Amino acid sequence: MISIEVAKLTKSFGETIALDDVDLKIEPGELFFLLGPSGCGKTTLLRSLAGFNVPEKGDILFGSDRVNAVPPHKRNTGMVFQSYALWPHMTVHENVAFGLKEQKLPKDEVKLRTAEALEAVRMAEYAERKPNQLSGGQQQRIALARALVVRPRCLLLDEPLSNLDAKLRNEMRLEIRRVCKDFKLTTVYVTHDQKEALSVADRLAILDQGKVLQVGSPQEVYRRPQSKFVANFIGEANFVKGTVLHAAGAMASIETELGVIIGTLAESSKSLEAGMTATAVIRPESLKIETFQSEENCFQGKVGDATYFGEVAQYHFQSGGVELKVFELNPRFMWGQREQDLYLWADAEDVVILKD
Ligand code: ATP
Repeated sequence: MISIEVAKLTKSFGETIALDDVDLKIEPGELFFLLGPSGCGKTTLLRSLAGFNVPEKGDILFGSDRVNAVPPHKRNTGMVFQSYALWPHMTVHENVAFGLKEQKLPKDEVKLRTAEALEAVRMAEYAERKPNQLSGGQQQRIALARALVVRPRCLLLDEPLSNLDAKLRNEMRLEIRRVCKDFKLTTVYVTHDQKEALSVADRLAILDQGKVLQVGSPQEVYRRPQSKFVANFIGEANFVKGTVLHAAGAMASIETELGVIIGTLAESSKSLEAGMTATAVIRPESLKIETFQSEENCFQGKVGDATYFGEVAQYHFQSGGVELKVFELNPRFMWGQREQDLYLWADAEDVVILKD
């Protein structure tokens, strides 16, 4: 198992700065996700790790080896792409064995290691088929086996599941996690699918415009976004602007159009002081509609548009000129639009206060 470190990595394409002074440290054996909107630089970073892009500035370290000048075929990385890139004329076995034959390994070893890799992705019984006789999910497993068979130092995955349907994607997420952990591989996984990142990653980085905005575990990034961009990109969020009344330790209170909101200070906003402007970030599922008033973070108002989705009901709740999105899980009934004196409530632990 190796760590992967990038330091001050910068890569431009003409006028476009695809990576802007990126620093990241990925721990040995970690399943690390790069997440961000289209064009933020995810693929450029992954391709730089693989050696297909040569950055103008900065360092790439695999363990203690600086690999900046090492060509792609000598970096010993395993790559899996969105398009599985299997050779259509070869059988599954031949596709997986190809990399080992290139290394001129003895026949017996090629056979054994290919069988092991196919076993690891649960595709041993398909060895003699051609790729066009496999489903999309099965082809993706073969692409994974082909990357694993050469015993790479690390695994680099570029949107590996985006060609699969939703159900298969769910299954394959868990499968990829199992394989990476079984092989104890340091893995960098690019996706724009936040659910994929939240459900599979050990840690993730959110990128925008070539910069890393936040790094953390799925829970840290989801529950404690350090910026509005991150809060908006990962999950949904209500933003309520206000003026700081009091900020001390981990908590702050702000005066807003809704009334006073108490929340947890984001790490990036510890320097907030009374009188400064700030924004409360409240996830829709953190808000609860009640018929009674609570002491703190409680806003009187009315339900507007309401939609029932089975497992969740979505409401637009109007309070003091502010509209808040609310998700109510396991709705037993729908709050009526004409009901008066409803209250919306959020636990201060679930509210994040950000510096503007
Ligand atoms: P997506 O999710 O759409 O794949 P991404 O986050 O992977 O996007 P990159 O492919 O890394 O984004 O691209 C980052 C920026 O660099 C974009 O503005 C893109 O247009 C630009 N770019 C990437 N590769 C090249 C290239 N070979 N030539 C010119 N510009 C490029």
